[in-house]
Amino acid sequence: MRITAIETSVVSLPFTMGGPHQLFAGQLWDRMEILLVKVETEDGLVGWGEAFGHAAIPATKAALDTILAPLLLGEDAEDFIGLGRKLPHAVHLLGRNGPFVYGFAGIDIALWDLAGKRSGQPLWRLLGGGKPVPMEAYASLLNYRDDALVKENTGAACAAGYRAVKLHQTTREAVVAAQDAPGAAQARIMLDVNCAWLPPAAQTMTASLADRGLAWLEEPIWPPEDVRALAALRRHGIPLSAGENVAGLFGFKTLIEAGAIDIAQPSVTKLGGVSEMVRVIHLCQAHGVVVAPHSPYFGPGFIATLHIASALIELPLIEVLWVDMEANPFDPWVRVRNGRVAVPNGPGLGCDPDPEVLARYTVGTPTRHVAEPSA
Ligand SMILES: [Mg+2]
Repeated sequence: MRITAIETSVVSLPFTMGGPHQLFAGQLWDRMEILLVKVETEDGLVGWGEAFGHAAIPATKAALDTILAPLLLGEDAEDFIGLGRKLPHAVHLLGRNGPFVYGFAGIDIALWDLAGKRSGQPLWRLLGGGKPVPMEAYASLLNYRDDALVKENTGAACAAGYRAVKLHQTTREAVVAAQDAPGAAQARIMLDVNCAWLPPAAQTMTASLADRGLAWLEEPIWPPEDVRALAALRRHGIPLSAGENVAGLFGFKTLIEAGAIDIAQPSVTKLGGVSEMVRVIHLCQAHGVVVAPHSPYFGPGFIATLHIASALIELPLIEVLWVDMEANPFDPWVRVRNGRVAVPNGPGLGCDPDPEVLARYTVGTPTRHVAEPSA
């Protein structure tokens, strides 16, 4: 089944976050952007994918438009194993993690959407899963740089029905503030410090947090490749999580072999799509490592995460950014109700974007690549 066209576009959604907007990679982060990858095949079907993301979108879109899309036009959309070998190899000199891998992830997600539509099956069924039930979500708070706002938003998330809340802060004081919020005593609290500390500071900080009952401490070590330093923090007894910044299956193999993590956090839009995510989940499960997907985005990557988690993860816990978007083309599937998210039941991802919302929030003109007619 030939790939006949690939289109990339950016949707930009205004959002509020329970406090002032912050900088992300030096840029004001006041729009939730989605890099959409639309793939068409010769049978007239259309699949949707999402490539990571946020401040990296211009770079990822360029990787797709200049290199990846031209390489993929005319290829067999159903050859997941072959394309997963051929494409990453074709671009491996350009980076084994980052925009080229993110771009390929967007393609792979769209191809799985197409495979589901072609067979009339939802992705959870293609992956071998049983009928989904709504899954527990956790509120992933943004960084407020203000402990009063940390407390306020933790309380608001608990009041909204979340039973797990993750902070993006770096101090013990912020954790204490969150745990003082109304309802927080009944919630699991996690702390994500985004690789804030070199090993000596990480030892001190982790020891200081050991009595707070955190459900996990995420990415405490800079750089994230320092798996031995990460492993050395486990003696403090706080479950450690990582994985959103490692490269694919072998990145997780390295983390696991070092005994560095209790919880693995593969990200479907970052590590190469549904195909690589499935391999990573199986690897983790064979080693008794819990999988909690990284999914701080709201397009087809989030929807794919729902299907994968429902099919392959026991007691899934889904990351949902604690923000309020003005609208989203994938509503209502990107919204949480009483702390839970439902999985679409239609073929493929089970939810195409709403064309009216796309028309209203797409920025610029989509970039379209079309295959030469086959001989
Ligand atoms: Mg994180």
